[in-house]
Amino acid sequence: MVIKKVCVIGSGTMGSGIAQVSAQAGYETTIIDVKQEFLDRGLGIIKASLVKFVQKEKMKQEEMNEALAKLRTSIDMKNAAKDADYVIEAVFERAEVKLPIFGQLEEVCPRETILASNTSGIPVSLLASATRRPEKVIGTHFMNPVPLMKGVEIVKTLLTSEETVEVSLDFIKSLGKETVVVKDSPGFVTNRIITLVMNEAAKLLEENLASIEDIDKIEKLSHNWPMGPFELADMVGIDVIVDLLEGIYQQTGWERYKPAPLLKRMVEIGYTGKKVGKGFYQLFG
Ligand code: NAD
Repeated sequence: MVIKKVCVIGSGTMGSGIAQVSAQAGYETTIIDVKQEFLDRGLGIIKASLVKFVQKEKMKQEEMNEALAKLRTSIDMKNAAKDADYVIEAVFERAEVKLPIFGQLEEVCPRETILASNTSGIPVSLLASATRRPEKVIGTHFMNPVPLMKGVEIVKTLLTSEETVEVSLDFIKSLGKETVVVKDSPGFVTNRIITLVMNEAAKLLEENLASIEDIDKIEKLSHNWPMGPFELADMVGIDVIVDLLEGIYQQTGWERYKPAPLLKRMVEIGYTGKKVGKGFYQLFG
């Protein structure tokens, strides 16, 4: 299967990054969102990222122009996705938002179109159930920020076909990324591990074991991490972490994924991290 046309649904943090790397790799890429202003914001994020690459001499101006020329935007999913070869959904992490999109894609996309989701933890099998082509549905879990992070988890359900996996692996590699294939399971691999680390760090803080600066410092120095758990939590968003932990806990019942009370209190008082300018470092730093 030859992929020429890519559709990315959702022009937020992840969708804009995915569309950017797709356009950079030379695919005709359409970004779809519900309002033109959201698409304009997404395009702004992409342009700013490309400009940084050019300024750092990691990309030539002509390459930036070529990438931008590959990008289209649309608020009409039915029309924009009707001839897509590969669709990646990156809308809000809510099943009630994602499921109707998969239902509509089933209706408008050609039979051979692969339907991927960038979900962090909603079962890909559930999303596939909204279609009549579960063999063509797969998870492509990109990491934030997409243009910089190399790893992508490829999430295979019990019904995803080998062909869909192979085409997806080739496609994602053509975007300059490295892949691993994981089973469709709560939190996949990355979020199973990283949410536990951040949950445990919050518990250490609740127990007054050490300051957040010292916890971050010792983890960076001891394990060669580029960021400590609190720096990472502030970057990812504490609300996102609580949602991920709760999602895994609800699906598995594993006590270790119950969010630390401190994480929940922080969400309640609006300290959800860098995106709102208030997180661990503003409260405890
Ligand atoms: P975001 O809130 O930044 O963007 C979501 C976008 O989807 C918004 O622009 C919104 O307008 C759009 N949208 C909502 N409903 C839509 C619809 N019906 N049709 C078209 N567009 C619609 O979200 P995000 O952080 O980019 O996350 C997107 C997905 O990626 C989620 O599933 C999330 O769990 C996953 N993810 C996020 C991260 C991260 O660090 N942000 C990392 C890995 C995976």
